Amino acid sequence: MSTITAATLAPDVVELRQFPRPDVGPTGMLIEVLSAGICGSDKHMYQGHAKLQFPVAAGHEMVGRVAAMGDQFETSSRIVGGPVQVGDRVTITPSTQGCRQCWFCSHVPHKPSLCPNRLIYGFTPVSKSPHLYGAFSQMMYVGPKSNVFKIPDDLSDERAAMTEPMAVASRAVERAMGGGIPHIGEGLSVGKRVAVLGAGPIGQLVVVALRHAGVGTIMVSDISEHRLQMARRMGADITLCIKDMDASQRLEAVREATDGVGPDVVIEAAGVPAAFEEGLAMVRRGGRLVEVGHFFENGTIALSPHTICHKEADVLGVWAYPPMQFETALYLLSHSSAPLDDLMTTTLPLAEFEQGVRLTGNEQVIKVMINPQL
Ligand SMILES: [Zn+2]
Ligand SMILES: [Zn+2]
Repeated sequence: MSTITAATLAPDVVELRQFPRPDVGPTGMLIEVLSAGICGSDKHMYQGHAKLQFPVAAGHEMVGRVAAMGDQFETSSRIVGGPVQVGDRVTITPSTQGCRQCWFCSHVPHKPSLCPNRLIYGFTPVSKSPHLYGAFSQMMYVGPKSNVFKIPDDLSDERAAMTEPMAVASRAVERAMGGGIPHIGEGLSVGKRVAVLGAGPIGQLVVVALRHAGVGTIMVSDISEHRLQMARRMGADITLCIKDMDASQRLEAVREATDGVGPDVVIEAAGVPAAFEEGLAMVRRGGRLVEVGHFFENGTIALSPHTICHKEADVLGVWAYPPMQFETALYLLSHSSAPLDDLMTTTLPLAEFEQGVRLTGNEQVIKVMINPQL
């Protein structure tokens, strides 16, 4: 392959462009993309909700086969589950490693996603050489200081391509875990009751992670009965369809399932400001509200700060995850008993990427996958 076809993304514009196959040099790697998932953030970029330098080389959820690797790649990047050689399957965290120089890298090293100096695959302008920084491409370029995870043999390509969204979901669940004192009633632990707002791909994977973590009752709300049906298959106990119940009925149903007090933990994965408001109303006094859905600015709500005081609620944000969250995600993808493959409702060739972006978010669709080798 001397020329490589890659999709570029800008508001309302998807293009398939040809690029020369890059030379990996001493510290680069080239992977042949086997499967790549379309994320809600790809749709947000297409809809013009993101402030980025467009067009970008899109695609940040992928599995690929190593096609070429520089002789110093192993020392310049972090390789987990390796060693890795040409022919092996790998996935890459969207962010390169923290710079280790900025204030955040120096003071909050356990949260490298706060470093502003990282390169983000799938969100980088396509004008940046060698252009192939996204996964919706026959081949993707992986530069120095990347985080590379070798894929276990028992994981299919498509399931492995869900490592990134599973990392987001499992991070959201782990954010709610207590500081080693769950028996006094704080945070998430075995038997706790959790509400998940939103049953898109992240909400579904949150349910999977919660079930595997041994929590008690899992309640899920969404606008789509199809998605709620899927959530039940992933392990949800109670589902609440927004079309059939108004906010006060949902609150009542959730209270009824929790001794009248509300869930110990609420995870907002809908990305709709009103869902945050509902989550705050729902969570029990002394409980935790985790906000993972608003990766993009999607409007505001009026809220009463008194509610947070009166409930003594912990409100926690999630901004991506530390790179080793991929290890947790790969573990869950291998060990969960949930029918995870059913989440991938659609697979399309690269030529139909724009159609895939349009489909993403539709009620009948959970996850759209692109196979650039078709
Ligand atoms: Zn994503
Ligand atoms: Zn930094």
